[in-house]
Amino acid sequence: MLTLGIDIGSTTSKCVILKDGKEIVAKVLKVAGTGTNGPEEAYEEVLKVSGLKREDIEKVLATGYGRKTYDMADGEISELSAHAKGVNFCDKECRTIIDIGGQDAKVIKLNENGVISDFVMNDKCAAGTGRFLDVMASILKLDIGELEKHAAKSQNPIKISSTCTVFAESEVISQLANKADLDDLIAGICGSVASRTASLAKRLGISEKVYMSGGVALNGGVRNALSKELGAEIFKTEDAQYMGALGAAVTAYEKS
Ligand code: ADP
Repeated sequence: MLTLGIDIGSTTSKCVILKDGKEIVAKVLKVAGTGTNGPEEAYEEVLKVSGLKREDIEKVLATGYGRKTYDMADGEISELSAHAKGVNFCDKECRTIIDIGGQDAKVIKLNENGVISDFVMNDKCAAGTGRFLDVMASILKLDIGELEKHAAKSQNPIKISSTCTVFAESEVISQLANKADLDDLIAGICGSVASRTASLAKRLGISEKVYMSGGVALNGGVRNALSKELGAEIFKTEDAQYMGALGAAVTAYEKS
């Protein structure tokens, strides 16, 4: 049986096709989220790369910020449930998930059965989310994927003191004008997201194993800084950004 999960985020659309609730058959990500053609394009492309047709898919579940306005699915599940299912599918030992996406951050605790026992989230402020990193990368004229290699070379991260993205933007521009070291500046930017997320996580209290999901999990600068702040090893799968879509596909299988 084939099921499909589609995660319609603020910045990206992700699709995963799962066979018999066990095996990932295909996955596709489009850098275009809710309110764009991203969801439809991701859906079409995942069918294309897998050589499947719509009628081959038993059930489609949507998740993510844009799930309520997407009418091609058979149902929807919350992002919290989707990430919990997705990460639990990958590692049953996970007890804490830190999901940082394009516009929010969530910390989710799982019990030994992989069921959500508690969570906290920040969806009010861009600081501490992927948006903050995207704004900074654009000021620095770098690709988002380049931040981690700069952060890794830093010896003395420059602390970003502004707690607001708009003020932090001015702060980074003035650091650049003062010829601050680029690696140290980027390490400070990654550290700023990490310290906001760590405060969120500490409110909940974390249990190991800790996994990161969402696109920001791909940023090693944030992962390493967060690991130091929390004093815990942070794991991620290579499919970290697909955890919501995967969880939706797993749930679609369980509900079929
Ligand atoms: P959403 O589901 O809200 O659309 P995602 O979970 O897809 O968000 O995460 C998007 C964020 O991931 C971006 O804002 C960006 O900061 C980060 N990101 C995406 N790709 C990369 C990458 N290759 N390296 C580092 N960070 C990335």
